[in-house]
Amino acid sequence: MLSLNDQGLLRTKGYVNGAWRAGDSGKSFPVTNPATGAVIAEVADMGAAETREAIDAADAALPAWKAKTAKERAAILRRWYELILAAQEDLAQLMTAEQGKPLAESRGEVVYGASFIEWFAEEGKRAYGDVIPSFAANKRIVVLKEAIGVVAAITPWNFPNAMITRKCAPALAAGCTVVVKPAEDTPLSALALAELAERAGMPAGVFNIVMGRDPVAIGHELTHSPIVRKVSFTGSTEVGKLLMRQAASTVKKVSLELGGNAPFIVFDDADLDEAVKGAMASKYRNAGQTCVCANRLLVQAGVYDAFTAKLAEAVKALKVGNGVEAGVTQGPLINADAVAKVEELMGDALEKGAKVALGGKRHALGGTFFEPTILTGITTEMRVAREEIFGPVAPLFKFETEEEAIRMANDTEFGLAAYFYSRDIGRVWRVAEKLEYGIVGINEGIISTEVAPFGGVKESGIGREGSKYGLDDFMEVKYLCVGLG
Ligand code: ADP
Repeated sequence: MLSLNDQGLLRTKGYVNGAWRAGDSGKSFPVTNPATGAVIAEVADMGAAETREAIDAADAALPAWKAKTAKERAAILRRWYELILAAQEDLAQLMTAEQGKPLAESRGEVVYGASFIEWFAEEGKRAYGDVIPSFAANKRIVVLKEAIGVVAAITPWNFPNAMITRKCAPALAAGCTVVVKPAEDTPLSALALAELAERAGMPAGVFNIVMGRDPVAIGHELTHSPIVRKVSFTGSTEVGKLLMRQAASTVKKVSLELGGNAPFIVFDDADLDEAVKGAMASKYRNAGQTCVCANRLLVQAGVYDAFTAKLAEAVKALKVGNGVEAGVTQGPLINADAVAKVEELMGDALEKGAKVALGGKRHALGGTFFEPTILTGITTEMRVAREEIFGPVAPLFKFETEEEAIRMANDTEFGLAAYFYSRDIGRVWRVAEKLEYGIVGINEGIISTEVAPFGGVKESGIGREGSKYGLDDFMEVKYLCVGLG
């Protein structure tokens, strides 16, 4: 049993209409610690009927929540934010236990996740409309922004806390009510957030959580219900496309944060030490399991060997282990499927001529631990050039010219994050403008913050999270045409 300072944060039932609710079947499913394989908790296995109940609760709670002033909603959100920060250590322990990331990263995610609540509590007060100069003397034109209604949020396991707050904070601040479906690998972080929301005074039905071993039935209900007006999803491109198709049946708005295939370009004129620092943060954070992780390292021929050597030095210093142990910088992968996928992609690359410069296999610790890996001699025929690796494997490509780097970088159906390192101001602007990505890190490997818009182009998604743009995704524009008679 996981021991927390505040054991009340370890919740195992769903949260519907302000009450903890078991699944109708009475069944539960296990949440396991990927570092040890131990079962941390058994949580309620919910399905379509419980999801309908949560949607109805959100619908019933909507009028009163929407009618509150932004300041009144902000007061509750602010309390939620403060309670989350006060519980940082427990939330981090829970997260590391169910997700595997090192405690330092979990602590960081709790603060990052909470930052969206703080930001949107304030931003909700600035959901300004417009008064448009009229086209006729006897008419007036006013534009209002209104909460879109009941929102479904479907979230992944790689950021069990922040992916929920990044969606729910703007939704709640705008006046929407929410049904969250967390990933089945990591429901405990979500349930702890619900416990803290309740303590913060969130009214019943405003914030609901349902989860189940089989996400298909829950997803079907959330995307087909005429009550749900918006689906916000973070996860795989495949599931995102499915949800978008399903949401079309009732013409719901969708926000999608899907897969990426981030290029990380190092030009000859880069500061190599900074580039290595950025590559370490972007590639190996969360054991390579983030959608903005560098997926392809494109290195200009003149610095290829020097960069590879410096990167290998830094990667050797990573310490693999259980995330609760001091000094560990890389935890296990989330589950056996994740390891199998990494092995499959590596096998394909090696077969086609790639070389292992470092690591290259399952870690001696066993389980789902994988060695931090560098592959050289990568070509565009290999699957790692096209598919998201989602593991601690850095494939290094060599290129000659700026044009070639841009062509390679854009040669993908994805368009979430890209990174490049250069000290030439002309090149910085040229490359930044030509990269077909929603986010570009320039001499910087860490790009996430609540104050900036996060999101992708092409098949990486629709919509933006965080920043002033993040609120609009949960609001409708209403045009009032006032005739003066
Ligand atoms: P990953 O490959 O990172 O696990 P997924 O897209 O499978 O990404 O999972 C992200 C979220 O989508 C999780 O909460 C998962 O339960 C949910 N999910 C998976 N399949 C469906 C589905 N058919 N309908 C609704 N949600 C789904």
